[in-house]
Amino acid sequence: MTLFRIILSVLVLAFAAPVGAQTPAKQLFGAKDTGSRQKPAAYGSYSKGCVAGAAELAETGPTWQAMRLSRNRNWGHPDLVDYLQDLSKFAAKQPGWKGLYIGDLSQPRGGPMLSGHRSHQMGLDADIWMLPASRINLSRNTRENISSISVSSKNEASVNGNWSRAHHRILREAAKDKRVARIFVSPGIKVQMCKDETGNRRWLRKIRSWPYHNYHFHVRLACPKGAKGCTNQNPPPKGDGCAEAQQWVNNILNPPPPKPKDPNAPKAKPRKKGPYVLADLPQQCASVLQSQ
Ligand SMILES: [Zn+2]
Repeated sequence: MTLFRIILSVLVLAFAAPVGAQTPAKQLFGAKDTGSRQKPAAYGSYSKGCVAGAAELAETGPTWQAMRLSRNRNWGHPDLVDYLQDLSKFAAKQPGWKGLYIGDLSQPRGGPMLSGHRSHQMGLDADIWMLPASRINLSRNTRENISSISVSSKNEASVNGNWSRAHHRILREAAKDKRVARIFVSPGIKVQMCKDETGNRRWLRKIRSWPYHNYHFHVRLACPKGAKGCTNQNPPPKGDGCAEAQQWVNNILNPPPPKPKDPNAPKAKPRKKGPYVLADLPQQCASVLQSQ
């Protein structure tokens, strides 16, 4: 019996989760299924950070549904949850829309993820489906299995028949909000919005071209006011960004020839090998992880 116990404890030790210094941070953060009981705070940057005291976006609200619930990524800084609720109320006023279908925010404590995004780590990023939320009572199972729709051509150089004025209005409302730093959409979508907007164009500056944003758009909030340890991205270049979006589209349609290599160019900094470990993240993230 004693020998059996010894063998058992050796086995337990060998297979217990190695919370060692070399464990990839995505495994540590991916294992947490609730937010930390801390004062809400976003730490680090969008692609290397974590979130303390995250709030859970309710799976279903009066004007939204969170999708793909099995991923447990409906967590964010409370400001993000408030923002999404506000935007969903606006969306619900559009013809054919009862609100928004909301994809990934962050994991309960943010941090790197086992699959998918590089960003979405500070609880300030959210993906919103382009599929109009025509009903707000989808079952869990349906929310796992239905897909969004693309509102652009396959090469993302132009919008397709799924694009609507309602999308334009929702994106405009989304961008006008002071809490927002940037919104990513496919280049062809931005070009269409540039063509269609007849009023104030200032908000267009926040709508940025980025590939693979035709099934959803990605909203990125700025660091909350006065937040310490939260690093904003540089603001987008001045102006409405419409010429730049057109250039993206031109490059899709007529790809420029590859630039010849400059033999005198400085060598690129070697990138860190392997996935991030906890020590690569801001130091506050260790307590976010350990907290109850
Ligand atoms: Zn995203």
